[in-house]
Amino acid sequence: MPIERKSRQRDAILADLKSRYDHPTAKELYNSVRECIPNLSLGTLYRNLSQLEENGQIIRISDGTNDRFDANITPHAHFKCLSCGKLYDIVSIKNDSYGFSDENIGQIYGYSLMLYGNCKICCENRENIN
Ligand SMILES: [Zn+2]
Ligand SMILES: [Zn+2]
Repeated sequence: MPIERKSRQRDAILADLKSRYDHPTAKELYNSVRECIPNLSLGTLYRNLSQLEENGQIIRISDGTNDRFDANITPHAHFKCLSCGKLYDIVSIKNDSYGFSDENIGQIYGYSLMLYGNCKICCENRENIN
């Protein structure tokens, strides 16, 4: 495949990911990128995602079930709602130790943190049902 086309596909994937904050799975991303690149294959998408990840342009997050992708590369934590399955960014964790203290920690360079529970919307909906 010519390099030009290759990088055009990668640019389209990155642009799509940058335009959203829902942390899509590869399949979800595939469905939306195919609207502008109809002949994109799932294999090509996976390859591009790995490449973007290696380049440090995106991050891959496992939510316990699926791999999800995020174009927000500043270190941040995530919160997964177990009712609706949404993955939210948590941006309020800012200090150096991220709220954790442990005698085994020497130096922290970053973090990957996943919180689980029910999101505010699901909690409110539940209250309305009861
Ligand atoms: Zn929810
Ligand atoms: Zn995120």
